[in-house]
Amino acid sequence: MTMACYIVNATITAKTPLHIGSGKRTGVIKHTHHFIPGSFLRGAFGLCLVKTTCEFKEGETHVHSEDCFYSKLFGEEFGKKSNMFFRYAYPLHLKCNGVFVPISRTLYRCRNPQCHKIYNTYIPPLECQICDNSVKPLLGYYECLRCGEINSESVQTSRFSLTALDRGSYSAAQIRSGEELAGTLRTIEVIEAGSKFRLEIVVDADCKEYLNQIIALLTRGVPDEDIGGSKSRGLGKISIEDVKIKEISRDIIEARAQTINTKGFDIRLLSPMVLGNSSILEPATLLEAARRAYSWILHQGKPSLPSIKLIHRQFLTETFSGWSLKENRRRRVEPAFSTGSCFHFESESSDQTLAIALAALEFYSIGSYKPHGCGQVTLTQIL
Ligand SMILES: [Zn+2]
Ligand SMILES: [Zn+2]
Ligand SMILES: [Zn+2]
Repeated sequence: MTMACYIVNATITAKTPLHIGSGKRTGVIKHTHHFIPGSFLRGAFGLCLVKTTCEFKEGETHVHSEDCFYSKLFGEEFGKKSNMFFRYAYPLHLKCNGVFVPISRTLYRCRNPQCHKIYNTYIPPLECQICDNSVKPLLGYYECLRCGEINSESVQTSRFSLTALDRGSYSAAQIRSGEELAGTLRTIEVIEAGSKFRLEIVVDADCKEYLNQIIALLTRGVPDEDIGGSKSRGLGKISIEDVKIKEISRDIIEARAQTINTKGFDIRLLSPMVLGNSSILEPATLLEAARRAYSWILHQGKPSLPSIKLIHRQFLTETFSGWSLKENRRRRVEPAFSTGSCFHFESESSDQTLAIALAALEFYSIGSYKPHGCGQVTLTQIL
């Protein structure tokens, strides 16, 4: 039986409040993401990887070699293939053990609180079919991927105010002008301690021999690194427990492919997708991604696939910037399609190879920054 890849799952618990900087501000409030992006987890894992497995003395500049465990796992930074893909860690829905993700862009709800009928469509009705009220998109809401529950919040958050301290004298900083006042008093939003998230890492089939070491680093090393901002203020401590490894075999991919109707299918984003300057997900881009996914997961050459057409789309855009561990700086900011964006494609006939390639995409993802969790998709049926 061919092994396609491994999925490492675990539960992340916030031991202290977490501030996962989203870059968003309203007035003096610095907001937090309500999930942990893959790049944050990859960063923490990479740091403890270097500390615990690379041999070098304090103060020395270390240049990773072929033999470094770091370059074996993070091959993409050395012009080789990626072997670990850190997915976005979304909040657990404790009732069903699913996760809350930003809602599908195709979900609309009747404005009438007595009705609240939900519509899942690219073309919302002008008025509710039941009560004639208008319908609106459920922007900003979260949806459990397992049970479908819809919530306006996915985790408990709170806010607290900080006063900048003068580091030299440990007294409140002197306020010299009106302008500095705004910079001195800040309010930060945090995810409350006790919040739980689902960790998910896709590991290449070639890395079987490293799985035990990866688990040891996750459970013992990563919790020593802090996640997110304001570390010096006692934020950002996590624990990682309950690790499970699932082997994804060819049989699992083929069984999933059986459920995909290639005559009409929807690609829904579970994380931001970075496609350079493309303004939509072009059929050619999707097909090339599917060919690569097929080749990666089945260890075969790229297949030829039938042509497809993009029929409907519903998306939002944002910006994405990763963190380069190698260069220790922010990567350039790039346009991205937001989580929850949906694209409906159609093809003339049923095609088994296309179905398998699309099933493989759920593990391989689309576009740039895959090791940071970008471009994760799920195949659904919206129309
Ligand atoms: Zn090294
Ligand atoms: Zn209604
Ligand atoms: Zn649920």
